Amino acid sequence: MKPRILIIYTGGTIGMIEDLGTRTLKPFDFSHLMENVPKVKMLNYDIDNIQFQPPLDSSDMHTTHWKDIARSIAENYDRYDGFVVLHGTDTMAYTASALSFMLENLRKPVIITGSQLPIGEVRTDGEENLITALQIAAATDRFGLPMVREVAILFENYLWRGNRSTKRSANNFNAFKSYNYPALASIGLGIHFDTEALKRHHTGDSLSPHYELDTAVGAIDLFPGISPTTLRHQLSCPSVKGIVLRTFGAGNAPTAQWFADALRETIERGVVVLNVTQCGNGSVHSRYMGADMLSGLGVVCGHDITFEAAITKMMYLFGLGLEPGEVARRLELDLAGEMTLEN
Ligand code: ASP
Repeated sequence: MKPRILIIYTGGTIGMIEDLGTRTLKPFDFSHLMENVPKVKMLNYDIDNIQFQPPLDSSDMHTTHWKDIARSIAENYDRYDGFVVLHGTDTMAYTASALSFMLENLRKPVIITGSQLPIGEVRTDGEENLITALQIAAATDRFGLPMVREVAILFENYLWRGNRSTKRSANNFNAFKSYNYPALASIGLGIHFDTEALKRHHTGDSLSPHYELDTAVGAIDLFPGISPTTLRHQLSCPSVKGIVLRTFGAGNAPTAQWFADALRETIERGVVVLNVTQCGNGSVHSRYMGADMLSGLGVVCGHDITFEAAITKMMYLFGLGLEPGEVARRLELDLAGEMTLEN
């Protein structure tokens, strides 16, 4: 049996072409994309595709598009062995994180990839990324089960867990990195999977997709000198149910009374506040007074979660229609391999 793969082409540089007049890149259609990668035929897979109309620059991605991707996967789940999502790099880590929460009990590969150079260009990284993503989506273990059973990002030399990934370079071909979790696979002469790092499930539950996401969330980036007016203004944004607070180092914040008062009032109004570090690598700990003060106020600890996973996890939990207390409780749980909980 040939592996059956569904490609969902959402857009991004991989499918763009230069407009000779304006010299800007514009999305092109999928037939153009496949014409430029004749090598795909050498894989001898059964490949079908779904195309976004029009293809998007990923800066235009919205929760409705995540819903479309999740629905395309769920509705075709039994017909295919794996799924490859072609996506722009700019918001790829957000899409990967959102899908990891939306596709509960996923047991098949959802491999997201794209490229830094359009696929039609001589030095493109798109051709290799597309072919490797297809091979990973088709890979099985010695029991014939899918090797990857989660949402992952394939880019150049590595396969990363989707909800652990961050775009770290606007130029390099190795554009993504996971600062707090090992690569799921390294790509060189062969594809070397790290079976310890790959997600494995022990329950027989079938795929349970969730399509509702609540965008009533916000983010605040702390910086030395932030004024009471700025902070209060950001915390009091109407209709916001949850805020990701990007703090210093191991989850630290100013210890001033006005700062604590502003946060306490926000939490008392029922807004959920999640403490996430501004550092790429490492975790939030109550080691210093500032971080300890935040947890004393009821700010939820984000451990080593990425910003992308934090914001999409909040959208997902509020999208389930949960009360703030329950959202706060579940934010502290590792739902889809997005966080390392210390013992
Ligand atoms: N702006 C593009 C996008 O995210 C960049 C890329 O694909 O690399 O759609």
